[in-house]
Amino acid sequence: MVSRRTFSVATVTTVAAALLPQRVAASDAPKGVFPVQKSDEEWKSSLTKEQYYVLRQHGTERAFTSPLDKTYAEGEYHCAGCNSLLFTSDTKFDSRTGWPSFFKPVEKAVGTTTDRSFFMTRTEVHCATCGGHLGHVFPDGPPPTGQRYCMNGVAMTFVSKTGGPSAAPDKSDSKS
Ligand SMILES: [Zn+2]
Repeated sequence: MVSRRTFSVATVTTVAAALLPQRVAASDAPKGVFPVQKSDEEWKSSLTKEQYYVLRQHGTERAFTSPLDKTYAEGEYHCAGCNSLLFTSDTKFDSRTGWPSFFKPVEKAVGTTTDRSFFMTRTEVHCATCGGHLGHVFPDGPPPTGQRYCMNGVAMTFVSKTGGPSAAPDKSDSKS
């Protein structure tokens, strides 16, 4: 049998990241570098034009254009770039902004940076696994966090708890 380990490592860096909701060998990644990495060309070919614009070029979809804005079914929201779990439906609320909004992300699923574009200081939100831009977070959300994660629907895929190919919950994670 071919060495399974060798096969896994090679696959992870090329196609598996785009296909499987799995955690990539983070221990191999240098500090500050995202576990899932692709070249610009690879991102371009694996994402739709809209997804590429938002995730890789920090774009923003037009308000009220995402079907996920009005989605309130029970389920999970995954990164459209690497399929990592980002948000669950029980943290979603109607912000009436035209973008899917949540008061809390899944633990360690997202990271933030300070965004000073457009003469504003905002907190940018990105996927902690692939670095894809997701949206911004504002301190005017509802209880219990008071945070409003204003997300681009095109940057996420929704997996319905009742109908989708949702994987079994895996809460295992490195120490917090
Ligand atoms: Zn991602």
